[in-house]
Amino acid sequence: VARWDEEHHFPVEAVHAMGDLGLFGLVFPEEWGGGDGDFVSLCVAIEEIGRIDQSMGITLSAGVGLGANPIFRFGTEEQKQRWLPDLVAGRKLGAFGLTEPRRRAATPVPPHPGCARRRRVGHQRLEGVHHQLGHRRSPRSSPSPPAPMPASRTSSSPAGTPGMEIEPPYRKLGWHASDTHGIALADCRVPHDHLLGEPGNGFRNFLSILDDGRIAISALALGCARACLELSVEYAGERIAFDRPDRCQPGDRVLARRPRRDGRERPEPHVQGGVAQGPGRDIGRAAAIAKLYTTEAAVTATRVATQVFGGAGFIEESPVARFYRDAKILEIGEGTSEIQRLVIARELGLPVT
Ligand SMILES: Cc1cc2nc3c(=O)[nH]c(=O)nc-3n(C[C@H](O)[C@H](O)[C@H](O)COP(=O)(O)OP(=O)(O)OC[C@H]3O[C@@H](n4cnc5c(N)ncnc54)[C@H](O)[C@@H]3O)c2cc1C
Repeated sequence: VARWDEEHHFPVEAVHAMGDLGLFGLVFPEEWGGGDGDFVSLCVAIEEIGRIDQSMGITLSAGVGLGANPIFRFGTEEQKQRWLPDLVAGRKLGAFGLTEPRRRAATPVPPHPGCARRRRVGHQRLEGVHHQLGHRRSPRSSPSPPAPMPASRTSSSPAGTPGMEIEPPYRKLGWHASDTHGIALADCRVPHDHLLGEPGNGFRNFLSILDDGRIAISALALGCARACLELSVEYAGERIAFDRPDRCQPGDRVLARRPRRDGRERPEPHVQGGVAQGPGRDIGRAAAIAKLYTTEAAVTATRVATQVFGGAGFIEESPVARFYRDAKILEIGEGTSEIQRLVIARELGLPVT
């Protein structure tokens, strides 16, 4: 993973192997080729993979949560048959386009036209630019990939759709081994049978997909924080400074300060059974709390771990340096910390403008 990170390499073969292991299908029913597991199982997988490599963790998290999940939740039987088997097997990866460039911010404040949509007989015409979409490539198809499948706000649009241009990959601060592109839509004609859900419900559906996604991001953040703790304890135990193991020195004091001292229970989002959402299951607040708490903890953990490593933590070869770079986006993607606070405040009945 260090080499992938250094070379900004999206490891198609590893994604392929994750597909073969059934990781992309964990939460989906067997009829679609899935493992019939629950959302907790997926979170455990994301946490464990994220503990080693955040890029692969987000590839799994986004591939399931943002790619396949909208089709599973809002697709017709025909759409599911068309798209889900490949997504569930990790043969293709889906993407999700909400964020728009510059002044058209991603932070959702309805009405949010973003992508202009005009209805025409037989198709929808889309205009606009979506930034920061994951997964341009289909994992089984490198080096000359066929259509990947970015799912726009209301539609499932295979790459190669006329009028849809996939931009070159972004160069990012972290997540170097994940695949992130912008998508430009110009007179892009998407057939009506690619629309997901009822017309007019796209925005609401998108937001509920984000609730599921935020829980998955929390699992990724837990993996990051755990990795930092484990690496720090190991390093502090081995490092000899002034003839004494470092654990007798600052590392010990820094690490020992970390556990919560107020004894309060951590928030437990209710996520048992299939994907997190279900009828009568409003997980918005729990998802926001989990995302806010875990991602900020992860960023702190990377800072502390880098400190425990001292100068070695600032050197690129050090794994904590990679986690340090990878962690920041956790506080931004799928809704920034500020937006989680707004969601929580709104759920508490506080006035929010
Ligand atoms: C590597 C990477 C991958 C990504 N993948 C995807 C993807 O697959 N699909 C996708 O759609 N997007 C994706 N994104 C985009 C990401 O989700 C957005 O960047 C994020 O949601 C924040 O939106 P924004 O960048 O438009 O920030 P803005 O909304 O412009 O926010 C800028 C700042 O203002 C604050 N702010 C905004 N509104 C408020 C408010 N009402 N109150 C208080 N503070 C506020 C924000 O918290 C933030 O600090 C990705 C981004 C990156 C970097």
